Order: sequence, then C-alpha cells, then structure tokens
Amino acid sequence: MSSSPLLNQLIDSLQCMPGIGPKSAQRIAVTLLEKRRDRAVNMANLLVQAMEQIKHCDLCRTFTEQFLCHICQNTHRDPSVLCIVEAPMDVLAIESTGAYQGLYFVLLGKISPLDGVGPQELKLSDLDRRLKSGQVSEVILALNPTVEGEATSHYLTQMIKAAGKQVTRIAYGVPFGGELEFVDSHTLQHAFGMRQRV
Ligand SMILES: [Zn+2]
Repeated sequence: MSSSPLLNQLIDSLQCMPGIGPKSAQRIAVTLLEKRRDRAVNMANLLVQAMEQIKHCDLCRTFTEQFLCHICQNTHRDPSVLCIVEAPMDVLAIESTGAYQGLYFVLLGKISPLDGVGPQELKLSDLDRRLKSGQVSEVILALNPTVEGEATSHYLTQMIKAAGKQVTRIAYGVPFGGELEFVDSHTLQHAFGMRQRV
C-alpha cells in the first residue's frame, strides 16, 4: 500500500492487463508518474476514446470504428474466399503477412461445452447467412490447434459443407527455421498427417 489512495487504485486497475501482476503494475504506475505524465494523459484519453468508439464490424466482427471495417470495405479483396478465425488478434496476425487477400469472419470465441459456449452463443447464424449470401465459394479455417479449436473446426466443417461451399484448413506443423528434434510429437504427428505432394 502506498501513501496515496489514488496511486493504489491505479496500481489495482493496471493489473487488469494481461501479464501484469502487482509488482509490474507498481513499476508502471510509478514510471508514469515520475517520467511520463504527458504521455500517460494522452494514453488515458486514447483509452476512453477507444473504449467508446471501437466496436465490431457488422460483417466480419473484427474491431472497427465504422459500420464496416476497412477490410470488408476494400473492393480489391476477394469476396469469394472467407477465412474464419477465433479473435480479432488473429486477423491482425494474418494481415501482417500480406499473404491473404480474401475476407474474414471472426468467431469471437470457440465452441466449449464446459464453459457453456455453443453455436448459439457464437451467433453462428451470422456465418450461415453469409455463406448463403452467394458470394463465398471457399472457406479457410484458421483456428488455433487446441482441443476447443479442433472441436469448433469440426462443427464448422459440417456447417460449411452443408451450405455447399469448399472448405480448407491452414496447415499446422514444423515452424519455419525450426528443427524437427525440438518439435513436440503431437505437432510432428499432425505435420505428417497434413503432408502435401511436392
Ligand atoms: Zn469487417
């Protein structure tokens, strides 16, 4: 506990960030107070603006301040290919590669019966509507290779096939620059299962 109740509150609230415990929160709060007051005030204003204005794109559900995000609005993107990801962070990761020119659908979660999350909670009817709108011909599943991710991919595959669309999955396997001996056996097994003809 510090001598300032406000400082205590600040340290408390900083701990809502991922990976920030009491010690780090204390260090951040004190650094902001001692050395970066102007930037901290800017950050606070930006936080308020971001929290008030950023919402989900009406079509793909990624973050945007507008009704439709800049990706959905971009007429140079290929509307016949739809990539399904779990979270807006995944869109950022794929976009940073510059290798994908299609559109997205963000699940905002994954099917997890233990947590009470099913197709209804994920509002997969939005996806179904989009699949049936006619523009999409191929769907690429790019979910995380976890138990829930696999279960979700399985459910989505059935749904996409039922809508008469082609469905593919991104490959998982040995990381670029990695060495086989350090890859875990499950990943290696998967890499063998997903091998391609060259
Ligand atoms: Zn969008």
